[in-house]
Amino acid sequence: MAEGAIDNNTSVQDQWGQICTQLKSEVGETAFDSWLKPLTLGSFNDGVMNICVPTRFMRNWVITHYSDRIHKIWEKKNPAIKSVNFVVQAMNDESKGLYSPTCRSLLKKITSTPTPTKFYQSGSAALSANANETFSNTDPLSVPLNPQYTFDNFVVGKTNEFAYAAARKVAESRNVSFNPLFLYSGVGLGKTHLMHAIAWHIKQQDPTRNIVYLSAEKFMYKFVRALRYKDTTAFKEQFRSVDVLMVDDVQFMGGKDTTQEEFFYTFNSLIEEGRQIIISADKSPSDLEGIENRLKSRLGCGLVADIHPTDFDLRMGILENKAKQLGVELPTKVAEFLAQKITSNIRELEGALRRVIAHSQLLSNKEITLDMTQDVLKDMLRSYDRRTTIDEIQKKVAEHFNISVKEMQSSRRARTVARPRQIAMYLAKQLTSRSLPEIGRKFDRDHTTVMHAVRKVEELIMEDASLAEDVEALRRVLEA
Ligand code: ADP
Ligand code: MG
Repeated sequence: MAEGAIDNNTSVQDQWGQICTQLKSEVGETAFDSWLKPLTLGSFNDGVMNICVPTRFMRNWVITHYSDRIHKIWEKKNPAIKSVNFVVQAMNDESKGLYSPTCRSLLKKITSTPTPTKFYQSGSAALSANANETFSNTDPLSVPLNPQYTFDNFVVGKTNEFAYAAARKVAESRNVSFNPLFLYSGVGLGKTHLMHAIAWHIKQQDPTRNIVYLSAEKFMYKFVRALRYKDTTAFKEQFRSVDVLMVDDVQFMGGKDTTQEEFFYTFNSLIEEGRQIIISADKSPSDLEGIENRLKSRLGCGLVADIHPTDFDLRMGILENKAKQLGVELPTKVAEFLAQKITSNIRELEGALRRVIAHSQLLSNKEITLDMTQDVLKDMLRSYDRRTTIDEIQKKVAEHFNISVKEMQSSRRARTVARPRQIAMYLAKQLTSRSLPEIGRKFDRDHTTVMHAVRKVEELIMEDASLAEDVEALRRVLEA
């Protein structure tokens, strides 16, 4: 491949696309969407590939967690790439001029992926206008709300009724009852939906209430920026007038001490003043990783509500509801098929339904049938069936190292057993969407042991090429 500007060389683009697909399957959708999707290609010179990252914090994170992997995959695909460099290139206007024009124009050209702070396009104009009006500001603290995410559009079932009731209660009461409300669940099960629904409801009741909804990542980004411009007073000032503060996905706050400190401070002063706080995360407060203990206990001191994985009835309910919303006739057989097959989360279920509907409409309103659904979703279902389980990982890793699964789960600490065990834990974290405590249970260990194992293997991969190869080979086998 010739070196030079990448404008006239689509293959680097294609490679990047392939790398993204591979990374997505390795790290899982949540981590991918949070950290890797916002990356875009920059310039390519003298063997150095520049990749643009929207914030400095993200850059550090990506470098620590993913740069070696990205480099490795790329080097294999294209030997001309000698190193990968990450450049901060903010996505908003504020930082125009800070970075190279190449990076900026490339960003424009290349970025078809939405930035983390995208504006929602769907939904009724009235509600959107309302949102913009209330949240309008040259530097809005809050991210716009999705007009579809209302209580009316939320289907209640056994698995989410508690979280739903808690959310309704918080939305309806004038005086603060549960503070904070802490919602947690795996991805795609309705946390963000419920948070937006609370905000819409409160706004409807009293449009003067100042509601701020933002992701933990955005909170950190704002704070780090304030630090950089030595303007933390203005940052704090922004929160002073907030009646309801919602921070989504706080698991991403782990490890950033000064931001946690600031969050803790903001959080405490708002609670003391009787303002409502609503937090979401992918784990319970006590299971959050890299979050200080005092913050954990503060987060858990209000009402903690979790949303469980969906059951068949809820999935049926959601499909019916969604089809009705879209004005589509969905045969019961098809709904049952989808509800049986797509059990991971609601986002994927909706995605599958949307694909089937789009297909039928593209073929000039071809009727939706079971055959057609199976055909349209063939690839999706195949990759779905292929999803790795922890049992499978234990089995394959044990085989590879010539030990038994029993030994792997035992309390033996001899290195010949402990190392494979750590590798299996690491792969379980990488290849499944299970949480650390869930992985721990499969090995009869607690989550801190798993966390330690993951870190250890990450270190070893850097130091020990033969171990890195073992891990790579196992990964390939498990993903095949
Ligand atoms: P999370 O924040 O937990 O990852 P989201 O709130 O983004 O999940 O939900 C993912 C998708 O599933 C959204 O489109 C949301 O509207 C939909 N969804 C989740 N739960 C429900 C529900 N109970 N009823 C209807 N739609 C739901
Ligand atoms: Mg969410």
